[in-house]
Amino acid sequence: MNIERPAIPSFQPPVRTLLGPGPSDVPPRVLAALARPTVGHLDPTFIAMMDEVKTLLRYAFQTRNELTFPVSGPGSLGMETCFVNLVNPGDKVIVCVNGVFGQRMVENVRRLGGTAVIVEDAWGEPVDPAKVEAAFAANPDTQLFAFVHAETSTGALSDAATLAAIARRHGALTIMDCVTSLGGVPVLLDEWGIDAAYSGSQKCLSCTPGLSPVSFSEQAVARIRARQTPCPSWFQDLGLVLGYWSGAKRTYHHTAPVNPLYGLHESLVILAEEGLEAAWRRHRENHLRLRAGLEALGLHFVVREDARLPQLNSVWVPPGIDEAAARSRLLNEFGVEIGAGLGALAGKVWRVGLMGHSSRPANVVLCVAALQAVIRG
Ligand SMILES: *Cc1c(COP(=O)(O)O)cnc(C)c1O
Repeated sequence: MNIERPAIPSFQPPVRTLLGPGPSDVPPRVLAALARPTVGHLDPTFIAMMDEVKTLLRYAFQTRNELTFPVSGPGSLGMETCFVNLVNPGDKVIVCVNGVFGQRMVENVRRLGGTAVIVEDAWGEPVDPAKVEAAFAANPDTQLFAFVHAETSTGALSDAATLAAIARRHGALTIMDCVTSLGGVPVLLDEWGIDAAYSGSQKCLSCTPGLSPVSFSEQAVARIRARQTPCPSWFQDLGLVLGYWSGAKRTYHHTAPVNPLYGLHESLVILAEEGLEAAWRRHRENHLRLRAGLEALGLHFVVREDARLPQLNSVWVPPGIDEAAARSRLLNEFGVEIGAGLGALAGKVWRVGLMGHSSRPANVVLCVAALQAVIRG
């Protein structure tokens, strides 16, 4: 069988401004890092860089957890790594669902033979701590508690400190999705007492997609060590992965994505140079600028003010506007990508992301002006 000459002999992507739910704009420094020569994944220089990635991730997560590293895969694989290692068949897990990503946690628990006790809140609402308290009271035999810190499907931020404290009081370990929160709003694993957390490279860290930083507390590691049944995933079995990511002698587990890890290193260096608190402040300030612009266009936010994510702004699509056509015009005429609604909010909202490198005043001005042109015809 022969193949015709490829229609795309070398892919030249258009330059876009990425103002959706991720990926965010990747800064030139990170793109340059990705293009450097590939070395072996056991090369001593590479191992030294891996160690620094772990140190930089501990800073980003604000944790001393030894077991902190990037999983070779997207945020969804980081999520599975947490669940597949911590959930044993028969375990009871309280899972908060207030959007798409909480539902995925429920699916993980069920596929692993656990029982999911669902605490439900409306899409656009943060998780209600009183409901979590009630779920623990009704299910005192619960081993694990899971929630999404920043629900990217709606733009709602939940109170992680309060939620994790409830779980700890009831003797359960906490799993937190901080894919969209890390680098954009405070994520304080140690202060809050989070036992397992997973994030993603392509949201507020502004690296390319495909890597998922994770971190596990000592209690989580003890629980994993005490498993009676082997971890059902060979690839994600932390006991095996760690032979490569830690210890004096590193051994082959899988071929690490060498160049993507250069990119993650560079993006974490950029975050450290700016400083976490300055990054949180920048996300907040640009959110306020965007909010002023969107409200001047007559748009209304989905999430109430005190639970709004600065990096993910959901607004109702105004009546009479074809939301998909409007997004196409933004992309084709202005090179701006924003997100559509998911699940219960499909067709009803736009999701404007100001994540990481995308969170800049010039992007706010561009987005508001482009939306104005599209809405007013
Ligand atoms: C994007 C996202 C994920 C999934 O990450 P992928 O890299 O797309 O697999 C999980 N949780 C939340 C809250 C997200 O925003």
